Amino acid sequence: APTLRLILGDQLDLDHPWLREPRADVLYVMMEVRSETDYARHHAQKVLAIFAAMRSFANALRRRGHRVRYIPLDHPHNRQDVVANLQALAQAHGAQAVEYQQPDEWRLDAALRRWAQQAPLPVRAVETRHFLLPRDGVTRRLGARRRWVMEHLYRALRREHGVLMNGEQPAGGRWNFDADNRQPWRGQPPEPPDPRPRHDVRALWAMVRQAGVATVGEPAAAALPWPLTRAEALAQLDAFVEQALPHFGPYQDALAEGRPRLFHSQLSFALNVKLLHPLEVICRAEDAWRAGCAPLASVEGFIRQILGWREYVRGIYWAHMPGYTERNALAHTRPLPRWYWDGDTDLACLRAAIGQTLRDAYAHHIQRLMVTGNFALIAGCDPAEVHRWYLGVYIDAFEWVEAPNTLGMSQWADGGLMATKPYAASAAYLQRMGDHCRGCRYDPRRRTGADACPFNALYWDFIARHEARFATHPRMAMMVRQWRKLPDDERRAVRQTAQAALQLLELD
Ligand code: FAD
Repeated sequence: APTLRLILGDQLDLDHPWLREPRADVLYVMMEVRSETDYARHHAQKVLAIFAAMRSFANALRRRGHRVRYIPLDHPHNRQDVVANLQALAQAHGAQAVEYQQPDEWRLDAALRRWAQQAPLPVRAVETRHFLLPRDGVTRRLGARRRWVMEHLYRALRREHGVLMNGEQPAGGRWNFDADNRQPWRGQPPEPPDPRPRHDVRALWAMVRQAGVATVGEPAAAALPWPLTRAEALAQLDAFVEQALPHFGPYQDALAEGRPRLFHSQLSFALNVKLLHPLEVICRAEDAWRAGCAPLASVEGFIRQILGWREYVRGIYWAHMPGYTERNALAHTRPLPRWYWDGDTDLACLRAAIGQTLRDAYAHHIQRLMVTGNFALIAGCDPAEVHRWYLGVYIDAFEWVEAPNTLGMSQWADGGLMATKPYAASAAYLQRMGDHCRGCRYDPRRRTGADACPFNALYWDFIARHEARFATHPRMAMMVRQWRKLPDDERRAVRQTAQAALQLLELD
């Protein structure tokens, strides 16, 4: 009687201890199920890339001599649910036990734990090795502190793993080179070529459509631009380190019309489905600095995202689930504008970010945080709806990383657990960091009137709506004082402009 071992679609880690050598008494189980395609409306490329990468992974396991049972979405006996399929397989094979690697999503973790409690056979969870810290690692380190700060975790992990260290001191004498970064991009150096492989997955797309899975965005099925194997992911990492990493730091926060990537890595998909291990990405970047191929400020900025933020948000997620995704500290209730789903808006920055998101299943951090996220925040959109959008539209969207970024960092729905202050900004920020305003019908310098950029009036309207809460907030009180200093008629005009903008943008 075999032991069944479940491998989920975001656990494509060939180096897991399970897989060291083939065993005749183990059957690996992988499955494509509707409960996974349907918990959000996913981008078509996300469904395709995950299924295609899973299929490649199953083949790689078979080539190494492992026994694999792969259930495609259209298999007649597919019960379209992880637990239901496992139950049926366990029975059919007379399995002696079922094992699974700890899922990264609370939803699946809860379903498997529930089943384990009542299943007629032993059902056991095993640790993964996908992150630097175990699930509760952040809580164990920061739990006692009154306020969790990412930087504390980041420095501790730098020391423990000896990353960018000179003995006890941080390389270059500083932990953080943010101040050297944050430059707008003026066209030079050129955006490097897109190094990603392309795949013809039209047959898979036909199967997904035939099944009636509701998706959003361009499938790009004839030339799917995401790595589907570890070798492809490693090649993408190499190309990034050589061509883009040297410029990553300075332009990390830049926005540019027609440049969806700039110097970002687009490695989040490979990292999140575990084709790459975070530590190997970190080491590769550090090696580039030690070899003199990339400046420290860029390398430190990049490493902080993975060693710091990525581990930190995962810790926030596990410390506050369940319930985190229902948080709404600012009591925002407006529906998300319809054009988040089709990009049809006359605000140039939003049109670019959303259009590209639907076309590529990708936008870089500043587009997510300061364009689409910022707008939803100052417009007062329901964070649960904003969360559903982000959970669907990005290639890298998995709840453990998406929810803290969306609800915490971008919508302040957790009341300040993730972010010390709301990431709300007016048009001045967008104009400083990018060139979208030049081609926009709205004027970024104006606060009131029909031509004024809606980000301005909505920003001040946001401050006004939350005046009482922010008047005593250490990092927001200054904005409240500025608002209060405006003459009465200016304040009235701002609020009217905000109302008109919301109506025009089909929000009221
Ligand atoms: P790069 O800029 O090249 O950064 C390198 C890597 O660092 C990324 O691949 C990623 O693994 C990691 N990283 C960077 N920033 C973060 C962060 N804030 N949190 C966690 N890891 C980070 N990231 C996801 O992986 N999945 C999501 O669903 C997701 N949703 C987001 C939603 C919002 C509202 C915001 C503001 C951010 C979100 N992020 C998410 C974080 C970040 O924007 C993406 O990781 C990044 O844009 C992915 O592109 P990249 O690989 O080119 O990143």
